[in-house]
Amino acid sequence: MSTPFGQSTVLGYPRIGANRELKKAVEAYWAGTVDAAGLASTAARLRAEVWRTLRDARLDAIPSNTFSYYDHVLDTAVAVGAIPTRFARLGLSALDTYFAMARGVDAEPALELTKWFDTNYHYLVPEIGTDTVFTPNPAKALGEYAEARGLGITTRPVLVGPATFLLLAKGDDPFARLDDLVETYAEILIALADAGVAWVQLDEPAYVADRSPAEIDALRRAYTRLGRLEHRPRIFVATYFGELGDALPALLDTPVEAIGLDLVAGPGNVRRLAAAGPLGGRTIVAGLVDGRNIWRTDLRAAVAAGATIAGLADHVAVSTSCSLLHVPVDLSAETRLDPQLSARLAFARQKVDEVVLLGRALRDGTTALPAPLPATPAAWRHDDVRGRLAALRPTDRQRGDYLTRAARQQERLKLPELPTTTIGSFPQTLELRQARAAHRAGSLDDAGYRARMRAEVEHVIRLQEKLGLDVLVHGEPERNDMVQYFGEQLDGFAATEHGWVQSYGSRCVRPPIIYGDVARKAPMTVDWSTFAQSLTGKPVKGMLTGPVTILAWSFVRTDQPLAATADQVALALRDECRDLEAAGIRVIQVDEPALRETLPLRRADQQAYLDWAVGAFRLATSGVADDTQIHTHLCYSEFGEVITAIDALDADVTSIEASRSKMEVLEDLAEIGYRRGVGPGVWDIHSPRVPPRDEVVEALRRAVAAVPARRLWVNPDCGLKTRGYPEVEASLRHLVAAAAEVRGS
Ligand code: GLN
Ligand code: ZN
Repeated sequence: MSTPFGQSTVLGYPRIGANRELKKAVEAYWAGTVDAAGLASTAARLRAEVWRTLRDARLDAIPSNTFSYYDHVLDTAVAVGAIPTRFARLGLSALDTYFAMARGVDAEPALELTKWFDTNYHYLVPEIGTDTVFTPNPAKALGEYAEARGLGITTRPVLVGPATFLLLAKGDDPFARLDDLVETYAEILIALADAGVAWVQLDEPAYVADRSPAEIDALRRAYTRLGRLEHRPRIFVATYFGELGDALPALLDTPVEAIGLDLVAGPGNVRRLAAAGPLGGRTIVAGLVDGRNIWRTDLRAAVAAGATIAGLADHVAVSTSCSLLHVPVDLSAETRLDPQLSARLAFARQKVDEVVLLGRALRDGTTALPAPLPATPAAWRHDDVRGRLAALRPTDRQRGDYLTRAARQQERLKLPELPTTTIGSFPQTLELRQARAAHRAGSLDDAGYRARMRAEVEHVIRLQEKLGLDVLVHGEPERNDMVQYFGEQLDGFAATEHGWVQSYGSRCVRPPIIYGDVARKAPMTVDWSTFAQSLTGKPVKGMLTGPVTILAWSFVRTDQPLAATADQVALALRDECRDLEAAGIRVIQVDEPALRETLPLRRADQQAYLDWAVGAFRLATSGVADDTQIHTHLCYSEFGEVITAIDALDADVTSIEASRSKMEVLEDLAEIGYRRGVGPGVWDIHSPRVPPRDEVVEALRRAVAAVPARRLWVNPDCGLKTRGYPEVEASLRHLVAAAAEVRGS
């Protein structure tokens, strides 16, 4: 008997709970205040809530195994037995082994954490060695399936597909293990079929990026093998985050019963499908509702796209473009949003309704669709901003000659060789966070809050003077988050109260929403920076978040190109830079840690992105005089495709992560002829470990060998907000001492 796929589905749903219950439960388990059974019962309650929500919304194909205590890639690693020996030998319970892989233990660092494609979700990178013995462990998938059955709900278990799993892994050529891994998936599929599972979803998003012919062949081989199993569930291969390209015909060569296409990030998928030839009775799962953004779907346009696909395939199901993991849970929890804005929004729960409605509309053709939204409210426009942008000339993104700048800056700053500095934030202590919470709750008034933060700035300045740093920072105590802080002060941004999205593990973020033209109402950072500067004769660095990062960590309007929104943000930052400069701030850092993460997945799209991204940064930073020094900071050391863009930013000084990669990045920069200032991180701030002085000296000597000392800066890898004061003081003392030693030699 074959069960049809259904008419409507989602590829996944938020698992953190409407009030971040999962975060709280997991953290309580780590703290030892809740035991494993307590954690398991919260998890079961959250899963049941999701399944009931989806069923009650009349979604007719419901996923399971989308829950995770930490990360779904880690769950898949466990499901195929890819637990590195270094964790297996710890002799912990299954749950604690899992958390050890996620978070590390004293003796073993965690698996590496990295960005999930071009999203702000982070997954744990599986470690696959030649000694990895894949073994099927379908317990979690089977357990969730049975749990949902117990509630009377039939589900479709979801796993990361074998090809994507290995493409995301690291080790000695993990992808070479595909045939081997596929046998383990085969056993998992058989076990699922034994339990009565009718459909399984295997996610293969890695195939929306450029893939070699060999990788595409391997995909074909994998699904041919799985498809030929005699006893198995029907297979739905889900793809998302872009256009499938040559992998589509390859999948169509295999016996899989359903293929999912992202029609939001990859509208060209329709054309691909039309060109692909006979679909052979397959179900096409059309990702028509955006799983990455929070806007209501244009249902009429979506129905039209769905109808086109229905003309090509025997059966079409409507779906979200990707898992709803990337959007907040429920718009109805937001009570303070402008009604004109909330009328335009859909969070995960609302997107389920859209999917169901679209599914019905495609089936019946008569379902009434809600009226389209009226035009954007006039109050959301800023004609002055638009006028200024329209009048921009190329020279507005151009500073003077670098060597002239460097000479003027040095004349003014009089810095020693190998100047020492930090990246911006100092520890966000419990007291600071409590003060912020009290301020938000109204129990600490504005004046009290300001006084508290100023005291912290003073403390941070005094500490840096005592340690002997050369360029100081104010420490960012007033910032809850480097994007939210600016979003709260700019026109065109809205903040949510409960719009949490999982970033990694128990960490959630609440991205602001950019809904209208961006405009600066008043200076945003000048008071803090000038206060800090008033306390010291040393230069204090002004600290801003760059336009690309602000966009990357917000939900962005889709009614104009990203480039236009980036330029609006850049204009606000440009004004801020000039105000800082006018107030006597001589060094300004504009952070762009997200420059690389939003790089398009396909090479063909990358240059256009880098052009506007670099253009926006330069618009933000080119309004200052030659003798104002612009810094930027990037949070990674493997530049890859963005290395020439980093040069094109034209910042006077670039600080980058380098301590883990042992300064390799300096060679990469030398290779492309980068000749401005560079501050390779000499202290890995991601760990509480204090780097011994000699280790910093050694890192600096390696750096000096690659870059002339007059261009080299000495700084940590990143901001210090997650660290504690004892290790910060000790580490900075070593950093300053090491700089002095290397200077003298
Ligand atoms: N200035 C920021 C800080 O120090 C930079 C943070 C980042 O790079 N993510 O916290
Ligand atoms: Zn950083």
